Amino acid sequence: DLAPLSRALLSVSDKTGLVELARALADRGVELLSTGGSAKLLRDEGLSVRDVSDLTGFPEMMDGRVKTLHPKVHGGLLALRDDSGHVSAMEEHGIVPIDLLVVNLYPFEETVAGGADYDTAIENIDIGGPAMIRAASKNHGHVTVITDTEDYGALLDELSANDGQTTYAFRQKMALTAYARTAAYDTAVSTWMASAIGEATPRRRTFAGTLAQPLRYGENPHQAAAFYSDGSGRAGIASATQLQGKELSYNNINDTDAAFELVSEFADRGPSCVIVKHANPCGVATGATMKEAYSRAFDCDRTSAFGGIIALNGPLDAETAEAITEIFTEVVIAPSIHQDAKDIFAKKKNLRLLLAPGLANAAEPGLAVKQVSGGFLVQDKDNGHIAESDLKVVTKRAPSEQEMKDLLFAWTVAKHVKSNAIVYVKDGATVGVGAGQMSRVDSTRIAARKSEDMAEALDLSAPLTQGSVVASDAFFPFADGLITAAEAGATAIIQPGGSMRDDEVIAAADERGLAMVLTGMRHFRH
Ligand code: 5GP
Repeated sequence: DLAPLSRALLSVSDKTGLVELARALADRGVELLSTGGSAKLLRDEGLSVRDVSDLTGFPEMMDGRVKTLHPKVHGGLLALRDDSGHVSAMEEHGIVPIDLLVVNLYPFEETVAGGADYDTAIENIDIGGPAMIRAASKNHGHVTVITDTEDYGALLDELSANDGQTTYAFRQKMALTAYARTAAYDTAVSTWMASAIGEATPRRRTFAGTLAQPLRYGENPHQAAAFYSDGSGRAGIASATQLQGKELSYNNINDTDAAFELVSEFADRGPSCVIVKHANPCGVATGATMKEAYSRAFDCDRTSAFGGIIALNGPLDAETAEAITEIFTEVVIAPSIHQDAKDIFAKKKNLRLLLAPGLANAAEPGLAVKQVSGGFLVQDKDNGHIAESDLKVVTKRAPSEQEMKDLLFAWTVAKHVKSNAIVYVKDGATVGVGAGQMSRVDSTRIAARKSEDMAEALDLSAPLTQGSVVASDAFFPFADGLITAAEAGATAIIQPGGSMRDDEVIAAADERGLAMVLTGMRHFRH
């Protein structure tokens, strides 16, 4: 429908593939316009280029803040070629059409992820680039816009297949890519500003990300999926490096995130291990060594641990690696990995091994976003933390020192278990986890029953819930849940309190000699 491309404006920060693209365009007789650094590179490679400053009659100025912000550029991108008014405006003002725009932006996301100071971040906010991208995208009826170096090949194929022109469908696809890019870019700026000035409210925010990884499929094979990075650079699944194993799946990423976020809570507790299945922990433990932490986590629920996701809060060493490879495991993530552990894993080709750049900061504020039909729910990330001094003892008996340690451990784990969450803990290891039930008493029963099953499997004289402590992510609405926990052998309870029937629950605890502490904080997680 259009004549072959005759003029292109190239202005890129990421110069990957630029020379090859420009050469292919020049070979097609396309006139090249370009800005400072891009023009210089192309000239150095022997290409003939016209400076945008020559087109506009203005030099690039103010440290590059103003390069392409000019009617000769924006008129050339925005003019409707088939509108007589637009055409005569172009003639009157000496504006020539620009058919192709190739732009990628100042690397704002990389700059802030690298820990740049405020002024450096500000200087890396691209102004002219997004303006041109938006102009060219709006005029996709006539203009082709390329914002991703990965699309250079597709552009050249398109030109070859269409006598030096692009199809409308191609221009539409590139325009939608371009608008996604400028949206993500401004979101990155806004997100950075919120964190730079300590503005934590979820009420003044927008969400976007950049494609980090296309995924083979989503939660199920019939769902297409992709992984986006929010550009925050937060230590975690998005910033981890995969050292070996099969490609990460959607569920792997989701579960690894759950495991790593939980184990990061134990930064100060010595060797700790979390095993996750279907986004819930099925074993969490500390130990004198990492291997011991792993074995104790495994012993919480060996059945569920099969095919699990393992997160460690410290180095993965050889003996832990040996123990892990005894059963089938999907993913292992750790903040450091010894070479001999890598060698052991190398024999398990499919096992995905991820190296995280340190632990996540559990106290760091952030936002949590969940999708519902037709919208998003946005809230502060649950970084609530309870210390011993926050607890209120409400029973006649106060917890012993060991019970208190375990209560706080159980409480932290419960925060990461889908509601209704019940977590039994003994000596720094979970011994029963009840997750995702619609009634609290069911979660309490399921966790205790799992512990009975493990006692049988491990040939123990009694379930490990005997003499354990228990955490409940929200208050007990009735005494039945607490009574079930007491029957399973729990001796101390941690829960938020605040039920209409707190008195009944406290009385039931006192009757059975249990110690109970209230947090005043709830940890629902859905
Ligand atoms: P170059 O390396 O060619 O000198 O600069 C390319 C970069 O400048 C691209 O990332 C492009 O988005 C950006 N850019 C182009 N025009 C302008 C402008 O008028 N103002 C600002 N701040 N950046 C621009």
